[in-house]
Order: sequence, then C-alpha cells, then structure tokens
Amino acid sequence: MMGLMQQQPLLISRLIDFAARFHGDTEIVSRRVEGDRHRTTWAQVQRRSMRLARGLDAWGLQRGDRVGTLAWNGYRHLELYYGVSGSGRVLHTVNPRLHSDQIAWIINHAGDKALAFDMTFAPIIRSIAASCPQVAHWVALCDEGALPADLVQAVPGLLSYEAWLDGQGDAAYAWPILDENEASSLCYTSGTTGNPKGVLYSHRSTLLHAAAGALPDVMCLAAADSVLPVVPMFHVNAWGSPYAAAMVGCKLVMPGPALDGASLFELMDDEGVTLSAGVPTVWLGLLASMREHGRRPSALQRVLIGGSAAPPAMIEAFQKDFDVEVRHAWGMTELSPLGTSAAFKFKHAQMDAAQRLQVQTAQGRALFGVDLRVVDARGAELPWDGRSVGELEVRGPWVLSDYYESGLPNPLHDGWFPTGDVVSIDADGYMRIVDRSKDVIKSGGEWISSIDIENVAMAHPAVAMAACVAVPHPKWDERPLLVVVRKPGAEVQARELLAFYEGKVAKWWIPDDVMFVESIPLGATGKILKTRLREQLLGPAAG
Ligand code: ADP
Repeated sequence: MMGLMQQQPLLISRLIDFAARFHGDTEIVSRRVEGDRHRTTWAQVQRRSMRLARGLDAWGLQRGDRVGTLAWNGYRHLELYYGVSGSGRVLHTVNPRLHSDQIAWIINHAGDKALAFDMTFAPIIRSIAASCPQVAHWVALCDEGALPADLVQAVPGLLSYEAWLDGQGDAAYAWPILDENEASSLCYTSGTTGNPKGVLYSHRSTLLHAAAGALPDVMCLAAADSVLPVVPMFHVNAWGSPYAAAMVGCKLVMPGPALDGASLFELMDDEGVTLSAGVPTVWLGLLASMREHGRRPSALQRVLIGGSAAPPAMIEAFQKDFDVEVRHAWGMTELSPLGTSAAFKFKHAQMDAAQRLQVQTAQGRALFGVDLRVVDARGAELPWDGRSVGELEVRGPWVLSDYYESGLPNPLHDGWFPTGDVVSIDADGYMRIVDRSKDVIKSGGEWISSIDIENVAMAHPAVAMAACVAVPHPKWDERPLLVVVRKPGAEVQARELLAFYEGKVAKWWIPDDVMFVESIPLGATGKILKTRLREQLLGPAAG
C-alpha cells in the first residue's frame, strides 16, 4: 500500500523560496572584491536570482545547460547558485586557483555556455576566452561602469552583471518543476589525484546533503546562527553551506577574497558570526589573530574543520584557549562533500579531556545516509576494531554513481565508491584516516601515517606548518622526512624536533630528518600539495 502524502520534488528553488518567505529580512553580508561590505537579504537574493533566471531564459539556455562561475564567496555568487540551478540549468563552479590551462580545459570539458566571473579573475578570463569557443556569454560580476575597456575589447560581448540583471525586470518568475534527480551543479575534483574529474550533483542529492549537514552532530545550524563559510563556493559548494543556510534561514556572512586571519577575525567580530567552516590552513591564520586579540571573535561558538586532518593541537587551541567548539569532519568532492563528523556520543561525557580529544581527532562517524566500510587489497571487508587498516569505501544518496563524461571505467566497486583514503573504523563506528593511499609511507613493509607525524610536529610551539613525505630508502623502501615552516621569530633545530617525538609515536615512525623551508606548497583548495612538495625535494619523478 502506498502512503497518502503529497509528492513534491526536492528542488533547490524551494530552498530560496522558503528562505525568502520565512526569513526574508535575514541578512546576507558580503565583503566584496570592490573592498566594501555589502548587505542584502534572503528576499533580495530570491528577487535577483529570479531576474537572473529570466536572463538565462532570454539567452535561450536549455534545461541542463551549464553555466560556469569563477567567483569568491559573495551574494552575487549566491544569486547564481539559486538562479542557475533553480531555473533548471547546471551551475558549474570552477576553481580559480587552478592553472589557467586547466581552467580552460575544465570549462571546455563541461561545455559551459555562459561564464560569470569576479573582477579579480579578469586576467584569467583574458587569457582563456579565446580558447573557450562554446562560451557564448561572458558576465563580469560588477557594475557597468566598472568594466575596463581593454577587457571589453578582449572578451567580445562581455556584459556587466548588474546591467544585465537590471535589464530583466521584476515580474514574478515561476521556477520550473523539475525532476529532483536532474543535475543541479557540477564540480571538478581539484586534480591532486590525477586529471580533474567532474562530479555532477542533483537537486535531490543537494537537498538531502544540506539537511544532513545542518544536523546538530555536523554544523548544528539554526535560524539563530550567523554562518561564515571560509571554504569556497568554488569547491564542493562550500560544503553545502549556502544551501543549508537557506534551509534553516540563518544569517550568511561571505568573506570574499579576504581570507587572512585578521580580516576573518574582524568580519566575524562585527557580524556576530557563531559558526564557521574551513580547512586547517585557514584556521592557523585565524588562531594567530585570536591570540593577538587575546580573545575569540565575540559570538563565535563552533568551527567545522575538514578537508585535511585537524591537528589535535589546533582542536585544543580552539577549545581550551578560546572556548570555541571544534567539529572535525571528513568528506570529498565525490560525496557532496560531507561523509563523517567526529561529534560525541552520550557515553563520551564520562571521559576525561584527553580521551575526548582522542574522539575528536578521528575523522568521525557516518552522517545518516552515508554508509562506510573498510576493505583490504582484495576487496574483502575488514572488521571495525580500530586496528585493521584498509581502503575506505562509501555509498549513499549524495555519493556519486559515476564521473561526468570522464571516459573512464565506472569507479564503483560493488556499488561502493572507493575513496582512496586508508583508514580504520573502531567499534563505535568512528573512522580514522591513516593517510591518502598515495601519501602513506611504507617502511619495511609497514605503514607510517604521515598525518600522525604532522600532528606531533604541529603541537611543537615553534612549528607553523608541517608536512611529512616519504623518501626512498635502500633498506626500508621508504622513510619519513619531516618538512617544517618555523613560526616567525621561532628557533628550533632538527635534533630538538626529533626528540619531541620520543614517547609520542613508535620509535620507527620518528622521521629520519627534518628539513626547514620558508613555505610549503598549498593546492587549489588550501591543502598541502604533497605531489609538488615531493617534486621540489626529490625531483619531477617523485611527484
Ligand atoms: P581533491 O583534494 O582531490 O580535490 P577533495 O577536496 O574532495 O579532493 O578532498 C578529499 C580528500 O581530502 C579526502 O579523500 C581525504 O583524503 C582528504 N580529507 C578530507 N577531510 C579530511 C579530514 N578531516 N582529515 C583528513 N583528510 C581529509
């Protein structure tokens, strides 16, 4: 017997309609590339995203056509999120930190018909416009008067976003009723694991993921929150936060291009930010700024840390020094991206601080909807004993079923997506990453976790950033080398740092040497780029 409930497809347009109707005057604050701070509301975002949709209709763009963006976190990008997907087109967020050849390749592979970009990225557009012939419409996210003449010359037909929107009028727009399984947005993996591959999200996967991400054990989002996503809207939809924010109707604060600690502190402080989300490298900057001020931003309660492992020292600094709760989460582009979060269970309340920290340093347990398993090299499932280590596989309604026109064999293994992460799962279901399979160090036939080695170094007061890579060794095959950036003015030598490992890890895990460098290369999503680091240290073949 079928249930007798209404059938309503889960559509992105419903999110913006909900936010506008029930939270219409709640603010969206953006630090713009123009340098000022801009204020709008959910109601205004809805109005302008409807204009935008009308503009796309006028261009004759069809359902499923891709519209690319090269843009920071800001209200115009948010309008594109809702106007493009809401009207049945596919929002293709392009990562501007990639090399311009790769950007052009991605835009062409996606077949973008239109591309909207922040003025910061005008130089990229200038260099790629001629190699992207299928892009029929180029839109600069600025006022008409701000269009530089040489750019207009270089990019024929270039429009100013504001002039284009102004031309669309304000008549009500009826969002199309789509099949909830239609594509809504497209994001390419950043290529740290090979050629970029397209992950094509659907309306349904996006809404289910947003609802799961808003839950108390993940972002714990409510209408009373003010959320600042540091994680960019150009990579995995800012972890779904622009959708989750509309779903709960909270205030959204967008940092634009100013992602340094001081700028983030100021914006959080002024805008009553209660929750923020980003990768560990971003938090290094914010923590430094918090130390300078001797306090946290006034209303900050929680930070979501993911994308790379959150070092225990970072979790402690937030929680012990500043009373800001840390949520450590794991995910990847192929999972929309959220998969696990290291929130406590009821029984953890009894534990002492050290044990609780241990729980939080895990990548966490599955969100409802995502299933996890660990398999050995032959694909056989391993027990959840916290010790058996193998590859993590996942499945669920917001996990990809295939890459977008990759020409590669389907990646699934028995219906599960193999993540390339080497992990264990304990009896409570908490997953702990040992490494990415390509970063793991194999010494004498045993694995050394580069993440664990880095975590110890990050707890040393003189260390600003640490990366551990494998170097070839005649006897052990590979041995760990620690690469360190010292904190400004701090002094520490290799011997002292290596002594710091005594008693903290197995003796044979202690790196053979430490190399001090001025900087460590970061990839397009702010993570340490180990391929480049290995190339720099060991030559091109090692990348
Ligand atoms: P790429 O870097 O290839 O673009 P993603 O940005 O999707 O891919 O990153 C996914 C990967 O990032 C995961 O497979 C995992 O290796 C790593 N990662 C994400 N969150 C964490 C975390 N909390 N701890 C350790 N590694 C993480």
